[in-house]
Amino acid sequence: MTRVAGYTGRFAPSPSGPLHFGSLLAALASYLDARANDGTWLVRMEDIDTPRCIKGADSDILHTLEKYGLEWDGDVLYQSHQHERYQDTLNTLLNKQQAYYCTCTRKMIKNAGGVYPGTCRDASRSPENAATRAKIVTHHNQVSDRVQGDIVIDDPHALEDPVIKRRDGLFAYNLVVVMDDAFQNVTHIVRGSDLLTTTATQQSLYALLGYPLPTYAHIPVASVTPGRKLSKQNHAAPLSLTNIAQTLTTAMSLLGLPVSQAPQDGNSQSLLSWAVAEWDVNFVPKRSEIIVDRYQSTYYSDPQVIAE
Ligand code: GLU
Ligand code: ZN
Repeated sequence: MTRVAGYTGRFAPSPSGPLHFGSLLAALASYLDARANDGTWLVRMEDIDTPRCIKGADSDILHTLEKYGLEWDGDVLYQSHQHERYQDTLNTLLNKQQAYYCTCTRKMIKNAGGVYPGTCRDASRSPENAATRAKIVTHHNQVSDRVQGDIVIDDPHALEDPVIKRRDGLFAYNLVVVMDDAFQNVTHIVRGSDLLTTTATQQSLYALLGYPLPTYAHIPVASVTPGRKLSKQNHAAPLSLTNIAQTLTTAMSLLGLPVSQAPQDGNSQSLLSWAVAEWDVNFVPKRSEIIVDRYQSTYYSDPQVIAE
């Protein structure tokens, strides 16, 4: 495999609960892609949406990654510690009239057809009770994805002026993910295909902020039924800490690795070394989701719990 010089990748979980099999796929794919390129692999805690964060979930996630042998480089960056930097950039955008205050309510946008029509763009609203939106003049909704190929995101939301700070004072995911990936010199983003539509907005923000674009690879998400990805909401179990090698093997096989040739000694470290040597992003199925067996113990702790 041809290696990319200066590769930096990352895994960016939100500490809203323990890692589950779906999160493992994203963590593993980004880890393998980084290590196969002799790259740096970072972990960043996306704890910006504080009401959704669960106390202790960050250390639980880090402990699980360690147990799985997914060792990261350097310190973990916490978004909750970066507010000043976010606000500085927001102020710069406001000063350059590349951002503006918006007082539209959800209801007003719904009544306008569900897509924000740019109502407050040139209205000089005051900051009171307002969200801040970035003024996007040129939308970058074409993505050259290493897994999904060249695609155009045709979701009309991808062409809105995105909220970058919410009315409730929280910085928006699309802003901070772009700012932090640039701040941490991330060159390669490997994550679940559920984030593909946000990529258009993020690319537009990269351009607005003058940051160099990273390369994207959106891997299929693990779903229980079409359109229903494994998530906390549909009772995905925390990753098993006892069947680590087996769970890793299942994840590797879904990522297209020839696991029948993998070492069978039950050692996750030798399994990971094998996978790093074998990794080829071209093996990853070019699909948005993979249906996984909902009753398999690696995905759910107790099938009874999720029987509907
Ligand atoms: N924090 C996001 C999530 O957990 C992932 C962000 C990203 O990989 O860009 O869904
Ligand atoms: Zn508005």
